[in-house]
Amino acid sequence: MTAYDRTPFLLRLSIRAADARVELAASTVLDKVRHKLSISELPLPLPIDQWIETPLGYDFSIVGNDELDPDVLGLARPTLNQILIHESLLENEGRFRFTCAHELGHCILHKAIAEELSDAELPRSGKASAIEREADRFASSILMPLDTLAQQLAGVMRDHQLSKASIEFLRGDDVRTVWLWRRCILPALCNTYGVSRAAMAYRFRELRLPGQRRVLKPSMISLMVAPEKAIAELPLDRITVRDGIPVLEE
Ligand SMILES: [Zn+2]
Repeated sequence: MTAYDRTPFLLRLSIRAADARVELAASTVLDKVRHKLSISELPLPLPIDQWIETPLGYDFSIVGNDELDPDVLGLARPTLNQILIHESLLENEGRFRFTCAHELGHCILHKAIAEELSDAELPRSGKASAIEREADRFASSILMPLDTLAQQLAGVMRDHQLSKASIEFLRGDDVRTVWLWRRCILPALCNTYGVSRAAMAYRFRELRLPGQRRVLKPSMISLMVAPEKAIAELPLDRITVRDGIPVLEE
């Protein structure tokens, strides 16, 4: 029997310099919450919808079609510290949570820019304006805090007997990479953080390993967000973990 390296390992994740301002804004909000609620550890998933009201002090309402057009799912009025979320989002926890965090991002980052900002389905898959990208980044940063994410990712890898050497497969582009993300990492982390698979995949696409290497290649995003039936042809069932790394059995 070959022994693989079972030593608990730490992952070092970082952000791009261009994202630092928004990341800092999100972590400042989390520090404020921790301080006001006298908690040291962040509960996961973060109860962002509760925190927007208390302790953050925003005027937050869940409303129906009489107050928001059915195609507007979230609305922020930064100068009034007001956030409205469409009640239809309550059916989807991940989208509800992301939209709440995105509107909070508008209130914190865009006070001087706009009186009112409205959003349809989030996170967006196509191109968006700089303001919308910032609010999306804020939502990702606050819902999936960087310091907790590295620890949680390493924990999931350990749960699957994956060693530090398998980190290289995270950023690969073959079937083992799809298996790692779709069968191990995304199901566990989406559950832990209460976010959609798309939101989690976009977060990892932006994060960097030491040496400024992306954790997840942008070219792999479509396979991360595809419905299960779209990846049914891939031989994911033939992948096993051997000596701490994923192996495709012949
Ligand atoms: Zn927006």
